Amino acid sequence: MNAPDGLAPTLPGFDVASVRAQFPVLAQRVHDDRRLAYLDNAATTQKPEAVLQALDHYYRHDNSNVHRGVHALAARATKGYEDARARIARFAGADVAGTVFTRGTTEAINLVAYSYLLPRLEAGDEILVTEMEHHANIVPWQILAERTGARVVVAPVRDDGGLDLDAWRERLTSRTRMAAFVHVSNTLGTINPVAEMVAAARERGVPTCIDGAQAVAHMPLDFGALGADFYAFSAHKLYGPTGFGVLLARPELLAGMPPWQGGGDMIETVSFDGTTFAEPPARFEAGTPHIAGAIGLAAAIDWLDATGVAAAGAHEQTLLRDAMDAIRDIPGLRVLGTAPDKAAIIAFTIDGTHPSDISSLLDMQGVAVRIGHHCTMPLHSRFGISGSARASFAVYNDGEDVTQFAAALTKAREMLR
Ligand code: PMP
Repeated sequence: MNAPDGLAPTLPGFDVASVRAQFPVLAQRVHDDRRLAYLDNAATTQKPEAVLQALDHYYRHDNSNVHRGVHALAARATKGYEDARARIARFAGADVAGTVFTRGTTEAINLVAYSYLLPRLEAGDEILVTEMEHHANIVPWQILAERTGARVVVAPVRDDGGLDLDAWRERLTSRTRMAAFVHVSNTLGTINPVAEMVAAARERGVPTCIDGAQAVAHMPLDFGALGADFYAFSAHKLYGPTGFGVLLARPELLAGMPPWQGGGDMIETVSFDGTTFAEPPARFEAGTPHIAGAIGLAAAIDWLDATGVAAAGAHEQTLLRDAMDAIRDIPGLRVLGTAPDKAAIIAFTIDGTHPSDISSLLDMQGVAVRIGHHCTMPLHSRFGISGSARASFAVYNDGEDVTQFAAALTKAREMLR
């Protein structure tokens, strides 16, 4: 499951032109008829025609609330929603009963924090995170720690952006109540050895919560084989809709967890004397869910499976190598994260320039990148900077995107000298 093992060698037959053609948004021109090189994929990915059509079809033909109605539309909406759960579980190697729908990675991690960990946490306990975490995998644990007197312990990142695994292991102690870590860093691109980390945590009886937001679209996932307790991801980084995500969990853990939000759809019976709760996953899905989100994600997964997630990852590795080769000699360039196991994400600074000036000049040349701290402020502090620019690649990016990016960056650097 560890990514580089999961990546197939670049398939000579990978037809990126036909992949691109399925993403209508990529065909547009921007700023004075410039070709669009969309390299902001770590923030969110574009949606293929198949996903757009699934969303359109749902709202045109099947729109209804789920689970409660008996009429034709309600039955179809419910079937679409629950079929999507089965499809998503199969894609991720997870149990249907352990596939909880959320608003995204952030909400999935908060669910684990409030429903699983908070009731178990006492003063002096520890929650182990890493220095490369997204704020979504820091702040919920900090809030719990403040409430309970527990402590968030941080494992350091090496200078090349790889996790210091020995230091991480040393911090797994008898006081650790949760090890929460990112699968693929959204800033460094670092691919953590999650299988090894899960095994080490399990050996010490420590539960694991993995932030898979940047992993699922780029490498195969087999949650069951991985053996983690919780794994979170967002649909919008997987060619699906925004506002939807998934928490994969071991069903036996969910069964023992209390609800964290109350309302419709998560109950068995309600009276003013008390309420009994539905079985998981419904117990954790209070209120009308994002039905189209589930259907859209299932369509995205069908699409990605047909394209081949391992082939997509291998294609992106080629783009990463080519892009690094193309920009390596730009004077003053500093790339954050050069660990050997790295996804196609390049965060960088150029000496003497501000990332926002770089990104504006790239934008004027049709190249979309992100700037700022990318919700990893502690990581940027670790590298002694407050922000960076970030180019991130997806399955539909091609050699022309790489060439356009490198040329635009070279020109931006010259203009800012
Ligand atoms: N973790 C990582 C590594 C991410 O890249 C992101 C999105 N930037 C998140 C968590 C949060 O995802 P969402 O905003 O979809 O909840």
